[in-house]
Amino acid sequence: MLVFTAQIANFAKINFRMSIIPISQWFKGVENRPLIIAGPCSAETREQVLKTARLLAHLGRVDVLRAGVWKPRSRPGNFQGAGEPALEWLAEAKQETGLLLAVEVATPQHLELAMRYGVDLFWVGARTLLNPFSVDELATAMEGINKPVLIKNPIHPDLDLWIGTIERFAKAGVQRLGAIHRGFSPFQKSTFRNLPKWEMPIDLKSVMPNLPIICDPSHISGNPDLIQDISQKALDLSMDGLMIESHVTPSEALSDAKQQVTPAELGRILADLSYRKILPGNIDSVDILESLREKIDSLDMQILELLAQRMDIVDNIAEYKIKNNVAIMQLRRWEEMIERRIEFAEQLGLSTEYVKNLLRLVHMESVRKQAQIISPRENLG
Ligand code: PEP
Ligand code: MN
Repeated sequence: MLVFTAQIANFAKINFRMSIIPISQWFKGVENRPLIIAGPCSAETREQVLKTARLLAHLGRVDVLRAGVWKPRSRPGNFQGAGEPALEWLAEAKQETGLLLAVEVATPQHLELAMRYGVDLFWVGARTLLNPFSVDELATAMEGINKPVLIKNPIHPDLDLWIGTIERFAKAGVQRLGAIHRGFSPFQKSTFRNLPKWEMPIDLKSVMPNLPIICDPSHISGNPDLIQDISQKALDLSMDGLMIESHVTPSEALSDAKQQVTPAELGRILADLSYRKILPGNIDSVDILESLREKIDSLDMQILELLAQRMDIVDNIAEYKIKNNVAIMQLRRWEEMIERRIEFAEQLGLSTEYVKNLLRLVHMESVRKQAQIISPRENLG
């Protein structure tokens, strides 16, 4: 038994006993390497599940077959998952291939059915975390369960909510407990479907050092191109495993068609990863300086994403100014803007000079960009 007491900034404080069984003891044969979970976003048909499972098993690198059986969808009318028949197909795939099974559960009824069909690992989806009533119901239904349960991060970057949900399951006596880092909604156009914000899992790890963390590069990327790099980064950060969506024919998938890779592509991704020398979950092996640098890298990437989003708005402003014949540089607006920003920066403890210089640069670049958009048209007129 371990007692974790830690405080990260102002948001996360944990002070209760939680006992976590190391991931190396969860399944036989996965003692000294990252756990690999792969499979389709959704189980769609018996044929799709069996074909995908056979190819994944054939890679010899996948431990657990994942599939969504009940899909939380934004709009009604979208494919909501095949329900109980999907569990039959998965049980058949397990029987035939020997792969373990992982399924998302959101309600006690899901859990009961999944248990009946021999599911080996459960995960709680990003959307479920948003409702602590549902989480409590699910955690109560899991009291004393001896199968692993992984808690995805919530949709938005709320570390307290992620920690709080994990606590709820820990308090219900779930000891094979872990987290899944699946990225955070950018709410706006971004390179990533969900921003990785690596500082979040790093902070989670410092609050709960023994908690295994799996990375889900598929939902972070939103497309196959970034999966390799994100997976590597996760391993470099000493994460304990990967969950990657794989479908026998991704373009025909009924959910998340854009981000799934074929089992053959998955095989290449896994083969190209360089597996670190350190053992999964060994927090001491992650250099503190290194993890601080990772946080800085992640924040810098987010600053750049924001600058790119800002620049997109600048384009729209230029269009507006052309239509309405407004001058590019408006001194009053600039003065007001800088005043308000500096006030805010001071509240954040940033130096006035630093923020002034930075904003001047940002502003100059947007004036330059607007001039570039506007002047070719003026020349034409
Ligand atoms: C999924 O894993 O298919 C899924 C729905 O993920 P998330 O809860 O992270 O959106
Ligand atoms: Mn998915």
